[in-house]
Amino acid sequence: DDPIKGAEQEVRDWAKQKSTEIDQLKAQEKFRREFLSNISHEFKTPLFAIQGYIETLQDGMIADDPDMALIFLDKAAKNIDRLTYLINDLDEISKLESGKISLNIQKFDIVELINETIEHLIDKANRHNIKIVFNTKPNQAIQVKGDRLKIQQVLVNLIDNSLKYGKHGGKTTVSIFPLLDQILIEVTDNGYGIEEKNLPRVFERFFRTDKSRSRDIGGSGLGLSIVKHILEAHQQTVNVRSTEGIGTTFGFTLSKSKNI
Ligand code: ADP
Repeated sequence: DDPIKGAEQEVRDWAKQKSTEIDQLKAQEKFRREFLSNISHEFKTPLFAIQGYIETLQDGMIADDPDMALIFLDKAAKNIDRLTYLINDLDEISKLESGKISLNIQKFDIVELINETIEHLIDKANRHNIKIVFNTKPNQAIQVKGDRLKIQQVLVNLIDNSLKYGKHGGKTTVSIFPLLDQILIEVTDNGYGIEEKNLPRVFERFFRTDKSRSRDIGGSGLGLSIVKHILEAHQQTVNVRSTEGIGTTFGFTLSKSKNI
């Protein structure tokens, strides 16, 4: 054993480890930069809109048209809503990502929770002229384990997306399939679908397809990322399949509660 060769090897190992660490730091830094630039972009759009509507009102250009003034105020208010949603989503995501949330695991009836969630979204569904169909047997109860509020958030985000990206006059179907120790819940729409190349990206935060951006459908691109985080915290999975022009299905699993 040559002591010099040994020392050389040690230095090489040390340098290699440092270089890996530097790469990791660089990746983190890039991630942080992109994150900040995404956030500022998402904030700027509604802020500029609000500024525009208010300036027009201040200029007095539509002072003699109160109906128009009301429309402008309404548009400003909608953009303020959008900012509020954005802040709430960011809050939720940062809590989920820092692992700071503790799940409040309980036993609950998922059929009841789905019915409750559909009830919440029925007005929006009517506005989009979309029928929500829940495939369940009458008086059925299925006990699962999980954080009821967080799972409701998952259902809201998925069903809400099916209304936003669904077809006017179309249908959203919620189905439950029993597996061995789990159940699979699927939310299917017959909307415009997601291009295959974008499918792996939809759970990334801030990712939105060009179609949803160009059609000016409100959203932050955070909803599915929140869904994924919540299910991962439950050690459950979520997946998506879609055919362009035909529709999209999101499916996620939950653990059955054994001691019922
Ligand atoms: P948001 O809806 O706020 O944009 P999400 O994270 O919920 O953000 O979704 C990310 C993107 O995935 C959406 O912008 C849209 O392009 C696409 N997407 C999500 N759900 C559907 C769906 N049911 N049909 C078609 N595209 C969808």
